[in-house]
Amino acid sequence: MTDCIFCKIINGDFNTEFVYENEYLVVFKDLHPKAPIHLLVVPKVHVESLNELEDEKLMAELFKGIKAVTKKIGLKSYNLHVNTGKEAGQEVMHMHIHILGKDKK
Ligand code: 5GP
Ligand code: ZN
Repeated sequence: MTDCIFCKIINGDFNTEFVYENEYLVVFKDLHPKAPIHLLVVPKVHVESLNELEDEKLMAELFKGIKAVTKKIGLKSYNLHVNTGKEAGQEVMHMHIHILGKDKK
């Protein structure tokens, strides 16, 4: 989607460094971190929110991606956060999962 900031990041428009990437998703650092480690797991396809996510294979891949990236950076203890819908605080309307960790990395 042309006016979606996360689609542009995935497209490489801002040269954002990916902490992890595979054919389904990218993981990059949140611009305004709310924890010592704050990563965003973002599917490469544009899906507005969890409400619109129907692809069960992609659902599984998102969790596999979380496990892969946390293993890669050695983060064993973390929280996941998914804001769904504007009233719940979702600002970027391209579905994503926040990984929040306390370890200094
Ligand atoms: P939401 O509130 O939609 O769940 O979270 C969106 C998150 O994306 C926010 O934590 C915000 O800091 C982050 N964010 C917004 N724009 C950008 C950007 O251009 N680059 C990065 N790395 N993060 C962004
Ligand atoms: Zn998008």
